[in-house]
Amino acid sequence: MRRSDREVTDPVKIREIISACSCCRLGFCDGGRAYIVPMDFGFTEKDGRCTFYFHSAAEGRKAGLVRKGGWAAFEMDCGHELVEGSRACAYTARYCCVMGGGRLIPAETAEEKRAGLTAIMARLTGREQWDFDEAVVEKTLVFRLEAEELTCKVHE
Ligand SMILES: Cc1cc2nc3c(=O)[nH]c(=O)nc-3n(C[C@H](O)[C@H](O)[C@H](O)COP(=O)(O)OP(=O)(O)OC[C@H]3O[C@@H](n4cnc5c(N)ncnc54)[C@H](O)[C@@H]3O)c2cc1C
Repeated sequence: MRRSDREVTDPVKIREIISACSCCRLGFCDGGRAYIVPMDFGFTEKDGRCTFYFHSAAEGRKAGLVRKGGWAAFEMDCGHELVEGSRACAYTARYCCVMGGGRLIPAETAEEKRAGLTAIMARLTGREQWDFDEAVVEKTLVFRLEAEELTCKVHE
């Protein structure tokens, strides 16, 4: 990162920033062209490795790309705030941002899907216990991105 003074490496701080972000933008490569989709997400962290969970209709452009597997980039941000200056070039903006990439893995079993959906609901609501309608679980595409790259930058 060119501005290494803005890089955040503390896992606790990174977790706080991820928790505060309202959506995750997934960047797919679709036939050599970028395709970016904003999505709600859940996440878990184990042994310093973040996994992000997503849910989707089983059909559509994104679903087709997820099923192909492979790699996606991601980006999420929060705390965006304009800092006024005395002239245009003195203006700046505060922000917190996390980005990276990793392999996309569709959930195969109902149990895997429920675990992913629970992670999404837990992040959105703070509640860890959820029941899901079996028929809805069956027809929902749930997938995860295991982050192999993850960096965090904060401009305070
Ligand atoms: C904050 C936020 C959170 C969201 N969370 C989720 C989520 O958790 N799960 C989920 O499945 N979807 C979510 N969505 C909707 C998501 O961004 C897509 O619109 C949706 O998933 C359909 O994607 P698709 O590739 O199947 O598009 P398709 O229905 O296959 O449509 C393909 C084309 O439609 C256009 N298109 C699709 N989506 C959008 C869009 N959002 N804005 C403008 N044009 C679009 C594009 O040109 C694209 O090429 C969220 C959207 C927002 C803004």
